[in-house]
Amino acid sequence: MGKGIDEWIDLDKRHFIHPTSSLKQQQTEGAAHIFTKGKDIYLYDINGKKFIDAMSSLWNVNIGHGREELAKAAFEQMSKLAFSSCFSTFSNEPAIELAEKLASITQGDLNAVFFTSGGSEANDTAYKLVRHYWILKGEKARKKIISRTKSYHGVALGATSATGLKPFRDFTNSLAPDFCYTDHLSAKSLRDVIEKEGPETVAAFIAEPVQGAGGVHIASPNYFAEVRKICDEYRILFIADEVITGFGRTGTYFGMEHYGIVPDIVCFAKGVTSGYAQLGGVILSKSLHEQLIELSTDTLFHGYTYSGHPAACAVALKNIEIIERENLIDNAEKMGKELLKGLKQLELTRGIVGATRSLGLMGAIEFVKHKESNEQFEKPIAPLIVKEALAKGLICRAVVFDSQDTIVLAPPLTINENEIEKIIEIIDDILITFEKK
Ligand code: PMP
Repeated sequence: MGKGIDEWIDLDKRHFIHPTSSLKQQQTEGAAHIFTKGKDIYLYDINGKKFIDAMSSLWNVNIGHGREELAKAAFEQMSKLAFSSCFSTFSNEPAIELAEKLASITQGDLNAVFFTSGGSEANDTAYKLVRHYWILKGEKARKKIISRTKSYHGVALGATSATGLKPFRDFTNSLAPDFCYTDHLSAKSLRDVIEKEGPETVAAFIAEPVQGAGGVHIASPNYFAEVRKICDEYRILFIADEVITGFGRTGTYFGMEHYGIVPDIVCFAKGVTSGYAQLGGVILSKSLHEQLIELSTDTLFHGYTYSGHPAACAVALKNIEIIERENLIDNAEKMGKELLKGLKQLELTRGIVGATRSLGLMGAIEFVKHKESNEQFEKPIAPLIVKEALAKGLICRAVVFDSQDTIVLAPPLTINENEIEKIIEIIDDILITFEKK
């Protein structure tokens, strides 16, 4: 006989440390849901309860759950060649093919790919590569990385140091040096920080096209063009962290397309495989790549065991094929408009919704006690709403960093109009009950 639910929960408590979790809550409440199955936008737990996965799990299951084609791609590649090294002059077919595909779908002259296992490693790779670049260029002093307030770049030491959300930085008390921060929505603030730090000491600026984990913050239409200009003026490299916004999430292939600018480096992960395998990486512009080739005199002393993992790359290729075959980016754009409509309706009709915002299939709802005064609740209500939503079979996420009281949504790109309506309806029902209270 298989294990009973109590046994699973007990073993979970004793042996499994959950990422980004409250250790105490796990011990007192136990694992709330042990998921066993996924299909399309839905997840099912061990008790058979069905949920709408309105977060695409961790903003990553872009093509939805339960795609056998991806399982087959992994099976076929693993049966033939599960793993071989890509160090030095070794290579493999799926990695080469995927690198070529990524070069072809990214903007401008973005052209050469370094693979990692996820987004944090991608960002740390970007920081190290830009610093290495400046060493080769004879400008060793250029080592500072400027990132934005409310940003999230991952949990490796460099990525944590770049992350603007304080709780992640405060978790450990010794961060990587040479990271500094600029206001997330003001281009002028970037110029001020560069001037203050000394332009000759700045290596790169990094930004998410739309800030995800920090609460879905969307820059003004000309923000990134201004930022790109400032970076060019001071010869600072521009890194776009497209870990969430890549692969159709905002209704374009990559988020920066909304702003019409081409970064020097793009970091990607998540949607590249829709979570079916662990993969990320950085894409360098042709010019940057060529300069690195020309100036390098020694080994590139940076490489993960799993850089260019053949099975992960095969899964990514199939995932991208599905995104294109099913026109999921167009669908994300269309459904993004439906989501926006639904959010605006909540904003108009519910007194405790202070503001909403969205781009493509990334959305946020901000709560206030009184709309007129914009006064906040003494204690954020977003976690209570998320809990209530979960009880009603809807998975969304609360963001309470930096005194925010917000829930965020990012459903799979396969979602349809009825399903969007259902999400809004569930949230509306909860808000009506809250307002009565
Ligand atoms: N960058 C961004 C913008 C992210 O949202 C995340 C993950 N949420 C990361 C980097 C880190 O990626 P990973 O968790 O795969 O290391």
